Amino acid sequence: MKCADEFRSRAVTAPLVEEIARSLVRPVRIMEVCGTHTMSIFRHGIRSLLPPEITLLSGPGCPVCVTPVDHIDAFLAAAGRDEVTIATFGDLLRVPGSHGSLATARAQGARVEIVYSPMDALVLARKEPERLTLFPAIGFETTAPTIAATILQAERLGIENFVIIAACKTMPQALETLMADPELHIDGLLCPGHVSAIIGSDAYLPFARRHNLACAVAGFEPADILAGLLSLIRQINAGEPRVENCYTRAVTAQGNTTAQKLIDQVFEPADSPWRGLGTIAQSGLTLRPQYRCFDGMIRLGLTVQPAQEPRGCRCGDILKGRLLPTDCPLYGTACTPLQPIGPCMVSNEGTCAAYYRYSGQKRRT
Ligand code: SF4
Repeated sequence: MKCADEFRSRAVTAPLVEEIARSLVRPVRIMEVCGTHTMSIFRHGIRSLLPPEITLLSGPGCPVCVTPVDHIDAFLAAAGRDEVTIATFGDLLRVPGSHGSLATARAQGARVEIVYSPMDALVLARKEPERLTLFPAIGFETTAPTIAATILQAERLGIENFVIIAACKTMPQALETLMADPELHIDGLLCPGHVSAIIGSDAYLPFARRHNLACAVAGFEPADILAGLLSLIRQINAGEPRVENCYTRAVTAQGNTTAQKLIDQVFEPADSPWRGLGTIAQSGLTLRPQYRCFDGMIRLGLTVQPAQEPRGCRCGDILKGRLLPTDCPLYGTACTPLQPIGPCMVSNEGTCAAYYRYSGQKRRT
Protein backbone atom coordinates (compact mmCIF):
# COMPACT_ATOMS: atom_id res chain seq x y z
CA MET A 1 0.00 0.00 0.00
CA LYS A 2 1.40 3.47 -0.88
CA CYS A 3 1.75 6.05 1.94
CA ALA A 4 -1.06 8.27 0.64
CA ASP A 5 -3.36 5.25 0.34
CA GLU A 6 -2.46 4.09 3.81
CA PHE A 7 -3.14 7.55 5.21
CA ARG A 8 -6.53 7.67 3.46
CA SER A 9 -7.33 4.17 4.63
CA ARG A 10 -6.46 4.98 8.25
CA ALA A 11 -8.56 8.12 8.11
CA VAL A 12 -11.56 5.93 7.26
CA THR A 13 -10.87 2.94 9.49
CA ALA A 14 -9.69 4.62 12.70
CA PRO A 15 -13.08 6.23 13.53
CA LEU A 16 -14.79 2.90 12.82
CA VAL A 17 -12.42 1.05 15.15
CA GLU A 18 -13.05 3.66 17.87
CA GLU A 19 -16.82 3.47 17.38
CA ILE A 20 -16.75 -0.33 17.60
CA ALA A 21 -14.83 -0.15 20.88
CA ARG A 22 -17.24 2.50 22.23
CA SER A 23 -20.32 0.52 21.19
CA LEU A 24 -19.32 -2.81 22.65
CA VAL A 25 -21.25 -3.60 25.85
CA ARG A 26 -20.58 -7.33 26.16
CA PRO A 27 -18.40 -10.03 24.58
CA VAL A 28 -19.63 -11.05 21.14
CA ARG A 29 -18.86 -13.88 18.76
CA ILE A 30 -19.09 -13.06 15.08
CA MET A 31 -18.59 -15.40 12.17
CA GLU A 32 -17.54 -14.50 8.65
CA VAL A 33 -18.49 -17.05 6.01
CA CYS A 34 -16.54 -15.83 3.04
CA GLY A 35 -12.98 -16.87 2.28
CA THR A 36 -12.19 -13.43 0.87
CA HIS A 37 -13.35 -11.86 4.14
CA THR A 38 -11.15 -14.30 6.06
CA MET A 39 -8.12 -13.39 3.99
CA SER A 40 -8.85 -9.66 4.18
CA ILE A 41 -9.34 -9.78 7.97
CA PHE A 42 -5.95 -11.45 8.39
CA ARG A 43 -4.11 -9.46 5.75
CA HIS A 44 -5.17 -6.12 7.21
CA GLY A 45 -4.66 -7.18 10.81
CA ILE A 46 -8.28 -6.40 11.65
CA ARG A 47 -8.36 -8.80 14.60
CA SER A 48 -5.54 -6.88 16.24
CA LEU A 49 -7.48 -3.61 15.92
CA LEU A 50 -10.54 -4.91 17.73
CA PRO A 51 -11.23 -5.17 21.47
CA PRO A 52 -10.47 -8.66 22.83
CA GLU A 53 -14.16 -9.09 23.68
CA ILE A 54 -14.88 -9.54 19.98
CA THR A 55 -14.22 -13.09 18.83
CA LEU A 56 -14.05 -13.50 15.07
CA LEU A 57 -14.67 -16.99 13.74
CA SER A 58 -14.14 -18.18 10.18
CA GLY A 59 -16.83 -20.35 8.63
CA PRO A 60 -17.21 -22.53 5.55
CA GLY A 61 -16.67 -19.79 2.98
CA CYS A 62 -13.78 -21.16 0.97
CA PRO A 63 -15.06 -23.19 -1.99
CA VAL A 64 -11.94 -25.30 -2.32
CA CYS A 65 -11.94 -26.06 1.42
CA VAL A 66 -15.55 -27.27 1.58
CA THR A 67 -15.12 -29.60 -1.40
CA PRO A 68 -14.79 -33.02 0.23
CA VAL A 69 -12.05 -35.55 -0.42
CA ASP A 70 -14.31 -37.87 -2.42
CA HIS A 71 -14.95 -35.12 -4.97
CA ILE A 72 -11.22 -34.39 -5.22
CA ASP A 73 -10.78 -38.13 -5.82
CA ALA A 74 -13.33 -37.96 -8.64
CA PHE A 75 -11.34 -35.14 -10.28
CA LEU A 76 -8.21 -37.26 -9.90
CA ALA A 77 -9.93 -40.30 -11.42
CA ALA A 78 -10.88 -38.15 -14.42
CA ALA A 79 -7.32 -36.84 -14.67
CA GLY A 80 -6.14 -40.43 -14.87
CA ARG A 81 -7.94 -40.99 -18.17
CA ASP A 82 -5.67 -40.67 -21.21
CA GLU A 83 -8.24 -38.80 -23.28
CA VAL A 84 -9.05 -36.18 -20.60
CA THR A 85 -7.64 -32.71 -20.08
CA ILE A 86 -8.52 -31.23 -16.70
CA ALA A 87 -8.96 -27.46 -16.95
CA THR A 88 -9.10 -26.16 -13.40
CA PHE A 89 -8.86 -23.07 -11.23
CA GLY A 90 -5.34 -22.92 -9.79
CA ASP A 91 -6.58 -23.09 -6.19
CA LEU A 92 -7.65 -26.68 -6.67
CA LEU A 93 -4.34 -27.88 -8.03
CA ARG A 94 -2.62 -28.76 -4.76
CA VAL A 95 -5.64 -29.87 -2.72
CA PRO A 96 -4.87 -33.39 -1.57
CA GLY A 97 -7.20 -36.25 -2.40
CA SER A 98 -6.84 -39.77 -1.06
CA HIS A 99 -3.89 -40.44 -3.36
CA GLY A 100 -2.18 -37.24 -4.38
CA SER A 101 -3.49 -34.05 -5.93
CA LEU A 102 -4.06 -32.71 -9.43
CA ALA A 103 -0.53 -31.31 -9.19
CA THR A 104 0.95 -34.73 -8.53
CA ALA A 105 -1.25 -36.22 -11.25
CA ARG A 106 0.18 -33.63 -13.65
CA ALA A 107 3.71 -34.47 -12.52
CA GLN A 108 2.93 -38.11 -13.33
CA GLY A 109 1.84 -37.26 -16.86
CA ALA A 110 -1.84 -36.32 -16.61
CA ARG A 111 -2.91 -33.33 -18.66
CA VAL A 112 -3.93 -30.64 -16.15
CA GLU A 113 -4.21 -27.01 -17.24
CA ILE A 114 -4.93 -23.96 -15.12
CA VAL A 115 -7.70 -21.69 -16.36
CA TYR A 116 -9.08 -18.45 -15.02
CA SER A 117 -12.69 -19.05 -16.00
CA PRO A 118 -14.86 -21.90 -17.27
CA MET A 119 -14.99 -20.10 -20.63
CA ASP A 120 -11.21 -20.60 -20.90
CA ALA A 121 -11.85 -24.30 -20.47
CA LEU A 122 -14.37 -24.18 -23.30
CA VAL A 123 -11.82 -22.44 -25.54
CA LEU A 124 -9.39 -25.23 -24.74
CA ALA A 125 -12.00 -27.83 -25.68
CA ARG A 126 -12.53 -26.13 -29.06
CA LYS A 127 -8.81 -26.10 -29.72
CA GLU A 128 -8.44 -29.79 -28.98
CA PRO A 129 -11.52 -31.57 -30.35
CA GLU A 130 -9.83 -34.96 -30.09
CA ARG A 131 -9.65 -34.66 -26.28
CA LEU A 132 -12.34 -34.34 -23.59
CA THR A 133 -11.87 -31.15 -21.56
CA LEU A 134 -13.25 -31.45 -18.03
CA PHE A 135 -13.81 -28.47 -15.75
CA PRO A 136 -14.14 -29.30 -12.00
CA ALA A 137 -17.07 -27.03 -11.22
CA ILE A 138 -16.53 -26.01 -7.61
CA GLY A 139 -17.66 -22.78 -6.01
CA PHE A 140 -20.69 -21.03 -4.63
CA GLU A 141 -23.43 -18.89 -6.15
CA THR A 142 -20.64 -16.60 -7.31
CA THR A 143 -19.08 -18.97 -9.82
CA ALA A 144 -22.19 -20.95 -10.73
CA PRO A 145 -23.55 -18.32 -13.18
CA THR A 146 -20.37 -18.30 -15.29
CA ILE A 147 -20.36 -22.09 -15.31
CA ALA A 148 -24.00 -22.07 -16.41
CA ALA A 149 -23.22 -19.52 -19.13
CA THR A 150 -20.37 -21.73 -20.35
CA ILE A 151 -22.65 -24.77 -20.57
CA LEU A 152 -25.16 -22.74 -22.59
CA GLN A 153 -22.38 -21.51 -24.88
CA ALA A 154 -21.12 -25.06 -25.37
CA GLU A 155 -24.64 -26.12 -26.28
CA ARG A 156 -25.05 -23.19 -28.70
CA LEU A 157 -21.76 -23.96 -30.43
CA GLY A 158 -22.33 -27.69 -30.44
CA ILE A 159 -19.12 -28.39 -28.51
CA GLU A 160 -19.45 -31.96 -27.31
CA ASN A 161 -15.98 -32.50 -25.88
CA PHE A 162 -16.52 -30.17 -22.91
CA VAL A 163 -17.85 -31.50 -19.59
CA ILE A 164 -17.95 -30.50 -15.95
CA ILE A 165 -18.11 -32.31 -12.65
CA ALA A 166 -20.87 -30.38 -10.92
CA ALA A 167 -19.77 -29.63 -7.36
CA CYS A 168 -21.05 -26.08 -6.77
CA LYS A 169 -22.70 -25.36 -3.45
CA THR A 170 -25.18 -22.80 -2.19
CA MET A 171 -24.66 -20.86 1.00
CA PRO A 172 -28.06 -20.41 2.72
CA GLN A 173 -28.51 -24.11 3.44
CA ALA A 174 -24.99 -24.34 4.91
CA LEU A 175 -25.76 -21.40 7.19
CA GLU A 176 -28.85 -23.23 8.45
CA THR A 177 -26.71 -26.29 9.22
CA LEU A 178 -24.17 -24.16 11.06
CA MET A 179 -26.88 -22.60 13.20
CA ALA A 180 -28.04 -26.06 14.25
CA ASP A 181 -24.62 -26.64 15.86
CA PRO A 182 -25.21 -26.29 19.63
CA GLU A 183 -21.53 -25.50 20.21
CA LEU A 184 -21.30 -22.57 17.84
CA HIS A 185 -23.00 -19.79 19.84
CA ILE A 186 -22.61 -16.91 17.44
CA ASP A 187 -24.19 -13.50 17.97
CA GLY A 188 -23.76 -12.15 14.48
CA LEU A 189 -22.99 -13.14 10.93
CA LEU A 190 -20.88 -11.19 8.48
CA CYS A 191 -22.63 -12.31 5.30
CA PRO A 192 -20.48 -13.04 2.25
CA GLY A 193 -20.18 -10.06 -0.10
CA HIS A 194 -19.67 -11.94 -3.35
CA VAL A 195 -22.43 -14.47 -2.77
CA SER A 196 -24.74 -11.67 -1.65
CA ALA A 197 -24.13 -9.80 -4.90
CA ILE A 198 -25.80 -12.76 -6.63
CA ILE A 199 -28.51 -13.84 -4.18
CA GLY A 200 -29.27 -10.38 -2.73
CA SER A 201 -29.37 -9.24 0.90
CA ASP A 202 -33.06 -10.15 1.25
CA ALA A 203 -32.09 -13.82 0.87
CA TYR A 204 -30.92 -13.78 4.50
CA LEU A 205 -34.13 -12.31 5.93
CA PRO A 206 -35.93 -15.59 6.70
CA PHE A 207 -32.71 -16.99 8.13
CA ALA A 208 -32.08 -13.94 10.36
CA ARG A 209 -35.69 -14.01 11.62
CA ARG A 210 -35.69 -17.75 12.22
CA HIS A 211 -32.49 -17.67 14.27
CA ASN A 212 -32.88 -14.19 15.73
CA LEU A 213 -29.40 -13.49 14.42
CA ALA A 214 -27.78 -10.17 13.55
CA CYS A 215 -26.65 -10.18 9.92
CA ALA A 216 -24.62 -7.65 7.93
CA VAL A 217 -23.57 -7.89 4.31
CA ALA A 218 -20.09 -6.42 3.93
CA GLY A 219 -17.51 -5.75 1.24
CA PHE A 220 -13.85 -6.58 1.44
CA GLU A 221 -11.94 -3.40 2.16
CA PRO A 222 -10.98 -2.92 5.84
CA ALA A 223 -13.54 -0.11 6.16
CA ASP A 224 -16.24 -2.36 4.66
CA ILE A 225 -15.52 -5.11 7.16
CA LEU A 226 -15.37 -2.71 10.10
CA ALA A 227 -18.65 -1.11 9.02
CA GLY A 228 -20.21 -4.57 8.89
CA LEU A 229 -18.90 -5.39 12.38
CA LEU A 230 -20.20 -2.09 13.75
CA SER A 231 -23.62 -2.80 12.28
CA LEU A 232 -23.64 -6.22 13.94
CA ILE A 233 -22.63 -4.84 17.32
CA ARG A 234 -25.34 -2.18 17.16
CA GLN A 235 -27.93 -4.79 16.23
CA ILE A 236 -26.80 -7.07 19.06
CA ASN A 237 -26.88 -4.18 21.56
CA ALA A 238 -30.35 -3.17 20.49
CA GLY A 239 -31.58 -6.77 20.64
CA GLU A 240 -33.07 -6.24 17.20
CA PRO A 241 -31.38 -8.57 14.76
CA ARG A 242 -32.06 -7.82 11.11
CA VAL A 243 -30.15 -7.88 7.83
CA GLU A 244 -28.22 -4.71 7.14
CA ASN A 245 -26.65 -4.24 3.75
CA CYS A 246 -23.35 -2.40 4.28
CA TYR A 247 -22.15 -3.15 0.74
CA THR A 248 -24.70 -1.25 -1.30
CA ARG A 249 -22.21 -0.41 -4.05
CA ALA A 250 -22.29 -4.07 -5.10
CA VAL A 251 -25.25 -5.75 -3.40
CA THR A 252 -28.95 -5.05 -3.87
CA ALA A 253 -31.89 -6.46 -1.96
CA GLN A 254 -32.85 -8.77 -4.83
CA GLY A 255 -29.34 -9.58 -6.08
CA ASN A 256 -28.38 -10.22 -9.68
CA THR A 257 -31.51 -11.68 -11.20
CA THR A 258 -29.82 -12.35 -14.54
CA ALA A 259 -27.23 -14.51 -12.80
CA GLN A 260 -29.95 -16.21 -10.74
CA LYS A 261 -31.86 -17.08 -13.94
CA LEU A 262 -28.73 -18.51 -15.53
CA ILE A 263 -28.15 -20.77 -12.54
CA ASP A 264 -31.77 -21.87 -12.52
CA GLN A 265 -31.77 -22.58 -16.26
CA VAL A 266 -28.85 -24.98 -16.15
CA PHE A 267 -28.76 -26.34 -12.60
CA GLU A 268 -31.20 -27.72 -10.08
CA PRO A 269 -30.74 -28.07 -6.32
CA ALA A 270 -29.40 -31.37 -5.01
CA ASP A 271 -28.13 -32.76 -1.73
CA SER A 272 -24.44 -32.04 -1.47
CA PRO A 273 -21.58 -33.18 0.79
CA TRP A 274 -19.56 -30.43 2.49
CA ARG A 275 -16.24 -31.01 4.16
CA GLY A 276 -16.84 -30.70 7.88
CA LEU A 277 -20.58 -30.20 7.63
CA GLY A 278 -21.63 -33.51 6.08
CA THR A 279 -24.31 -33.83 3.44
CA ILE A 280 -26.68 -30.89 3.46
CA ALA A 281 -30.06 -31.26 1.79
CA GLN A 282 -30.53 -29.19 -1.37
CA SER A 283 -27.25 -27.32 -0.84
CA GLY A 284 -25.62 -28.25 -4.13
CA LEU A 285 -26.20 -27.63 -7.80
CA THR A 286 -26.50 -30.49 -10.24
CA LEU A 287 -27.09 -30.26 -13.99
CA ARG A 288 -30.72 -30.32 -15.09
CA PRO A 289 -31.63 -33.42 -17.13
CA GLN A 290 -31.43 -31.58 -20.47
CA TYR A 291 -27.78 -30.64 -19.75
CA ARG A 292 -26.60 -34.00 -18.39
CA CYS A 293 -24.67 -34.56 -21.65
CA PHE A 294 -22.18 -32.12 -20.08
CA ASP A 295 -21.84 -34.23 -16.94
CA GLY A 296 -18.29 -35.57 -16.76
CA MET A 297 -19.21 -38.19 -14.17
CA ILE A 298 -21.75 -39.72 -16.56
CA ARG A 299 -19.58 -39.35 -19.67
CA LEU A 300 -16.62 -41.04 -18.00
CA GLY A 301 -18.68 -43.55 -16.00
CA LEU A 302 -17.24 -42.30 -12.70
CA THR A 303 -18.83 -42.67 -9.29
CA VAL A 304 -18.03 -40.81 -6.09
CA GLN A 305 -16.43 -43.23 -3.64
CA PRO A 306 -16.49 -42.56 0.11
CA ALA A 307 -13.10 -41.29 1.27
CA GLN A 308 -11.38 -40.39 4.53
CA GLU A 309 -10.18 -36.94 5.53
CA PRO A 310 -6.37 -36.64 5.73
CA ARG A 311 -5.27 -38.20 9.02
CA GLY A 312 -5.04 -35.66 11.84
CA CYS A 313 -6.35 -32.78 9.71
CA ARG A 314 -8.93 -30.64 11.54
CA CYS A 315 -10.19 -28.71 8.52
CA GLY A 316 -13.74 -29.90 9.22
CA ASP A 317 -13.74 -28.30 12.69
CA ILE A 318 -12.06 -25.18 11.40
CA LEU A 319 -14.72 -24.78 8.70
CA LYS A 320 -17.38 -25.00 11.42
CA GLY A 321 -15.68 -22.31 13.50
CA ARG A 322 -15.01 -24.77 16.33
CA LEU A 323 -11.22 -24.62 16.20
CA LEU A 324 -8.48 -22.22 15.30
CA PRO A 325 -5.76 -23.40 12.91
CA THR A 326 -3.29 -23.48 15.79
CA ASP A 327 -5.52 -26.04 17.52
CA CYS A 328 -4.63 -28.52 14.78
CA PRO A 329 -1.69 -30.74 15.81
CA LEU A 330 -0.32 -30.61 12.27
CA TYR A 331 -0.34 -26.81 11.93
CA GLY A 332 3.10 -25.45 11.05
CA THR A 333 4.77 -28.83 11.49
CA ALA A 334 3.53 -31.51 9.09
CA CYS A 335 1.21 -29.01 7.40
CA THR A 336 2.54 -25.77 5.90
CA PRO A 337 1.68 -23.84 2.73
CA LEU A 338 4.63 -25.55 1.02
CA GLN A 339 3.52 -29.01 2.12
CA PRO A 340 -0.21 -28.74 2.80
CA ILE A 341 -2.14 -31.64 4.24
CA GLY A 342 -5.62 -30.12 4.25
CA PRO A 343 -7.32 -27.73 1.84
CA CYS A 344 -7.51 -24.92 4.42
CA MET A 345 -3.71 -24.63 4.11
CA VAL A 346 -3.76 -24.74 0.30
CA SER A 347 -6.35 -22.28 -0.80
CA ASN A 348 -5.78 -18.55 -1.04
CA GLU A 349 -9.01 -18.26 0.91
CA GLY A 350 -8.25 -20.98 3.45
CA THR A 351 -8.24 -20.09 7.14
CA CYS A 352 -5.05 -22.05 7.93
CA ALA A 353 -3.21 -20.42 5.02
CA ALA A 354 -4.37 -16.97 6.13
CA TYR A 355 -3.38 -17.66 9.70
CA TYR A 356 0.03 -18.99 8.67
CA ARG A 357 0.74 -16.09 6.36
CA TYR A 358 -0.47 -13.19 8.45
CA SER A 359 -0.84 -14.07 12.15
CA GLY A 360 2.89 -14.29 12.80
CA GLN A 361 2.31 -17.67 14.41
CA LYS A 362 4.04 -20.32 12.34
CA ARG A 363 3.82 -23.08 14.92
CA ARG A 364 1.23 -24.54 17.17
CA THR A 365 1.19 -22.98 20.64
FE1 SF4 B 1 -5.84 -29.29 7.94
FE2 SF4 B 1 -3.34 -28.32 7.85
FE3 SF4 B 1 -5.28 -26.77 8.72
FE4 SF4 B 1 -4.44 -28.84 10.17
S1 SF4 B 1 -3.25 -27.03 9.66
S2 SF4 B 1 -6.55 -28.23 9.79
S3 SF4 B 1 -3.92 -30.32 8.56
S4 SF4 B 1 -5.08 -27.60 6.67
